[in-house]
Amino acid sequence: MKVPFIDLKAQHAELYPEIALVVKEAMMNAAFVGGENLTGFEREFAGFCGTAECVGVASGTDALRFALMACGVSRGDEVITVPNTFIATTEAITQAGATPVFVDIDPVTYNMDVSKIEEKITPKTKGIVPVHLYGQCADMDQINRIAKRYSLVVVEDACQAHGGTYKGRMAGSLGDAAAFSFYPGKNLGACGEAGAVTTDNEDIADRVRMLRDHGQRRKYYHEVEGYNGRLDAIQAGILRVKLKRLAGWVERRRSNAKLYDELLSMVAGVVLQAEPAWAASSYHLYVVRLSGRDRVQDELNKRGIATGLHYPIPLHLQNAYRDLGYSEGDFPATESAAREVLSLPMFPELTAEQIRLVAETLIEVTLTEVV
Ligand SMILES: *Cc1c(COP(=O)(O)O)cnc(C)c1O
Repeated sequence: MKVPFIDLKAQHAELYPEIALVVKEAMMNAAFVGGENLTGFEREFAGFCGTAECVGVASGTDALRFALMACGVSRGDEVITVPNTFIATTEAITQAGATPVFVDIDPVTYNMDVSKIEEKITPKTKGIVPVHLYGQCADMDQINRIAKRYSLVVVEDACQAHGGTYKGRMAGSLGDAAAFSFYPGKNLGACGEAGAVTTDNEDIADRVRMLRDHGQRRKYYHEVEGYNGRLDAIQAGILRVKLKRLAGWVERRRSNAKLYDELLSMVAGVVLQAEPAWAASSYHLYVVRLSGRDRVQDELNKRGIATGLHYPIPLHLQNAYRDLGYSEGDFPATESAAREVLSLPMFPELTAEQIRLVAETLIEVTLTEVV
């Protein structure tokens, strides 16, 4: 038996009739931009997150960039974030005109180490972008407290956290604004590219709406120069079909994670991600920490078990950010996570049998590592 890392085909087999109908109706009505599927999805996803507003955009990267710009981030500003994330987080900061300033992660939760934020604040600091990595929320009360003290904006990178909660509140409702990605493999995925900004702030939502549509509120009246960053209407329709299942999928991810936890918690050499009391992860990814990670990954792969690395090279050591002047050793917790963290197969349709096989094989492979 092979175990894939993620299996979207299983999900799509079940949803195909409903999704095909969405596509057919869009074709029949020639409705591809805007319309009821867009506004309907925005209303429904805002409802899911518990925010007043949701603005659909073309990707998670656009969502981050537009949210930052709408929150007032601009040229010359600094924005604090973590180096243990996907590059879209910092692309958005740079493309909004600002400079990313890194803070290391907490080695146990893999979220931003809130005790290290204040030492990075300068007169140029404009905001903080916590990343709810793997679906587990960063310590938002602490982050918001610091932001308030220094008058900073907080934009959540919730691109992995659809359905994750912090003290009972939904990811996406915890800062000034939040960015979601609906890239196909995310907890809520389109059949293509898509994203959204959620916020309680009407002015921020209004500016994101302008930015996604060439800076216009009214056709051909351009308040600012914007982007072509709209959410495709067919994707919005598909997302509405899937959104109805999202809560159930997150529950299944959680019970899958629980089974992994049970099977792996007492295993020497396998360190599980700590789930702090404040957070209920949405388990976009289920990660373990191991020494000899690369060899273990190879061995699992040979035995038919697909895994992933999130992320193998920290952002501060990427060629793209040579100019920022960081070097190896600057963020030890991030660097050791990059060497040791392995993402195991995780998706709602994963069976208990598959999880047992992954756990047994992992135990077998790590035991031979110790010897
Ligand atoms: C997926 C992801 C993004 C980017 O989303 P896209 O839709 O691919 O642009 C940003 N940040 C994180 C943490 C992500 O996982």
